[in-house]
Amino acid sequence: MHSKTDFFIDGAWVKAHSDQTLSVINPTTEEPIGIISLGDETDLNLAVAAAKRAQVAWAETPVAERKGLLENLLGIYKSRMNEMAEVISSEMGAPIALAQTAQSGAGYGHLRQTIKTLETFEFVTQVTKKDGVDNVFHEAVGVVGLITPWNWPMNQVMLKVAPALAAGCSVVLKPSEIAPLSSMLLAEMIEEAGFPNGVFNLVNGDGLGVGTWLTKHPDVAAISFTGSTRAGRLIMQSASEHVKPICLELGGKGANIIFADADEKAVGRGVRQCFLNSGQSCNAPTRMLVEESMYEAAVDQATEMAKKTSVGLANEEGRHIGPVASESQYEKVQELISRGIAQGAKLVCGGEGRPDGFNKGYFVKPTVFADVTPEMDIFKEEIFGPVLSIISFKDQAHAIELANDTPYGLTNYVQTGDVDRARYLARKLKSGMVEVNGQLLSPASPFGGVGLSGVGREGGVWGLEEFLYAKAVSGI
Ligand code: NAD
Repeated sequence: MHSKTDFFIDGAWVKAHSDQTLSVINPTTEEPIGIISLGDETDLNLAVAAAKRAQVAWAETPVAERKGLLENLLGIYKSRMNEMAEVISSEMGAPIALAQTAQSGAGYGHLRQTIKTLETFEFVTQVTKKDGVDNVFHEAVGVVGLITPWNWPMNQVMLKVAPALAAGCSVVLKPSEIAPLSSMLLAEMIEEAGFPNGVFNLVNGDGLGVGTWLTKHPDVAAISFTGSTRAGRLIMQSASEHVKPICLELGGKGANIIFADADEKAVGRGVRQCFLNSGQSCNAPTRMLVEESMYEAAVDQATEMAKKTSVGLANEEGRHIGPVASESQYEKVQELISRGIAQGAKLVCGGEGRPDGFNKGYFVKPTVFADVTPEMDIFKEEIFGPVLSIISFKDQAHAIELANDTPYGLTNYVQTGDVDRARYLARKLKSGMVEVNGQLLSPASPFGGVGLSGVGREGGVWGLEEFLYAKAVSGI
């Protein structure tokens, strides 16, 4: 078991002031794999003070130098990707193959994309007027607080850390207390890359403690958060005291609309995407809406596909799904499966309890419900487990009505052979993103939602702009 009780503050690993600790649990074995400190207000204040001291010089560091340091980090990250994958896999349960590709790869991809964005980004732009121009300076907002969850740890951390540093902001990161070890490894890499002291700081802690103090701190200029809508609301309240800009990437309840003219892989693709990462993705297509004429066939196909989805240990090679990340997550998913059954959805695969052959670990059966209706909790609530709900629709208008019948609005999916219809739906769907016919969105595209899915955008130019403010200047 690793002792990881220090924090990274002002360019060094320092002993925590707090004596409160927390074990990091491997969800496959339910055994502790590491121990971290849960910081107190003194720890957090030290980190913010270090970030504040570093801020002005960092913002004034030439862009080319900041880019050079990010490139150093990219090289180090690449050389330690396997190590990163192993840490992610053991702390949150992603099967090792997924951890080596999509999980750790997302961190690499977002860092590389940020460097690319920096290459062409104009930090000074102009607005023309009758008698000349106004200048617009795009300036770093200041010290930023970054708070991240456990489901795609490096994806979410790098979507914030890389553009914040690129913009010239100094950073205090509070990663998820459930999956903090990958962020501590990243801190080691940042140290090795040679960033100036205080530009990047990491303090572990829980939401009620470090998360809240960070959000409320008067010297923290902006907050970027990914996680639950519950915590997002609390962060919005805490940040309101100092009227801080906030970026919130929250939950989702994505609809995957499958028309009868969709390609023959559409249903299988939808099931796979829903179960990816054991269903723990904010943009998972968890509501499969299927055109009436192919509904029965689609249910059969999805059932077949779910039956074939194997569940396995996170450290084993293969294309299985692993456990969910924590005991509380396991309990929450079980509770929602029970409610689905009690409220009359037709269970066609999976169900309550662990899959056969597992007597420990937070493993969930790949589960499919058919005949789901909008009144049921499994239609409304984000489950965050490998649970798919299938619903039939009559026509295009009905599909749009069902898809938009949610307070969330992150990613919706459309499967059809008719491009005009896809275009029409892309306009009508109430969400920050629409994926058509299995085409993945680029890391250069804006990632974010509407409604309960949050405010703000990450990725590409939009992600960089979250950490900048526009200052309009006339007369020069
Ligand atoms: P959470 O939102 O409670 O935790 C995410 C992060 O926020 C953690 O770092 C946590 O310490 C911090 N946090 C919690 N409360 C805070 C507060 N009041 N102020 C500041 N920081 C705070 O997520 P969770 O409890 O681990 O998961 C609960 C549910 O959230 C999941 O079941 C899932 O539905 C959803 N979730 C969504 C995402 C996403 O990517 N959108 C990610 C994780 C969880």
